[in-house]
Amino acid sequence: MKYFIDRIDFVGEKTPCDFKGNGGNHYLHKGIARILRDENGREYVAGPTCAEKNTFDTNWGEKVPDFTKGAILIVTPTGPNVGSGGGASSHEDHDEDEIKNLDDFAISYLRLRMEKLRALGFFRAKFEPFNPYYEQWKSTRKLDEKSRRHIVNTDQSQRKKAEPFYMERLQKCYATAFFIDHALRHPLSASDSKYLKDYRSALTKTYYLSVEEINKLKEIVSRINDPWFKKVELGYFE
Ligand SMILES: [Zn+2]
Repeated sequence: MKYFIDRIDFVGEKTPCDFKGNGGNHYLHKGIARILRDENGREYVAGPTCAEKNTFDTNWGEKVPDFTKGAILIVTPTGPNVGSGGGASSHEDHDEDEIKNLDDFAISYLRLRMEKLRALGFFRAKFEPFNPYYEQWKSTRKLDEKSRRHIVNTDQSQRKKAEPFYMERLQKCYATAFFIDHALRHPLSASDSKYLKDYRSALTKTYYLSVEEINKLKEIVSRINDPWFKKVELGYFE
C-alpha cells in the first residue's frame, strides 16, 4: 500500500500513531500529527518518523498544508513514558523534531476555505469561485499555476479590503475552534462551558476573539487536566 502525506493537523493528547513500526504501539507527544492517506483515501495518523518511513517514495519533503500554524506549538523534549521504561524507545516517532515539510500556501488556503473551516461551522469561508480548483485538487491532489495565482491573489485582496478571509486569520480561526472543541470534550463547570460555547459561536460569525476573550480561554483551559494544553497554546488575533 502506498501512503501520501495529506496535511499536518491537530490531534488530541495521547493519540496513538497508526503505524506500529517494528516495535509496537506508540503515541504522539506534541498534539499534532502528519495525516497520511492511502490510495483509497483512507486516513492515518502518523508521527514524523513513521510519516517519513511510509512516504519516502511518494511525497516526503514536498510541500503540504500545515493547518496548525494558527497556534503556538510548544516543543518540549519527550519525557519518560509509562510503559516504555523512560525516554524514547527505538520504535517511537521523534516527535520533538521540527516540522520539515513546508506549508503549501495555495492548497492550505483553498482547503481552509472550502473544507476545513466549513466543517467547523465557518460557513461564510466558502468561496464559490474556488469550486473548480477544489474539484481539481480533489481529483488530482494538484493545482495548476493559474489556479494557484488566483488563490494567492484572493488572499491578498482580502487583506486590502480588511475582510477576515486572509491566511493568518483563517489559520487562527481554525486553531481557536479546534482548541475550544478540544476543551469542550473535558468535564467543565457550567459557567466555563457556557463561555466556550459563546466564544465558539461568536468566532464562526466574526472570525475574531478579543485579547480579553483569548485570556479567558487560556484561564479556562488552565483548569483542565490535559497536557495537550501545555503543548498547543493560543495566540492573539491581531
Ligand atoms: Zn509512529
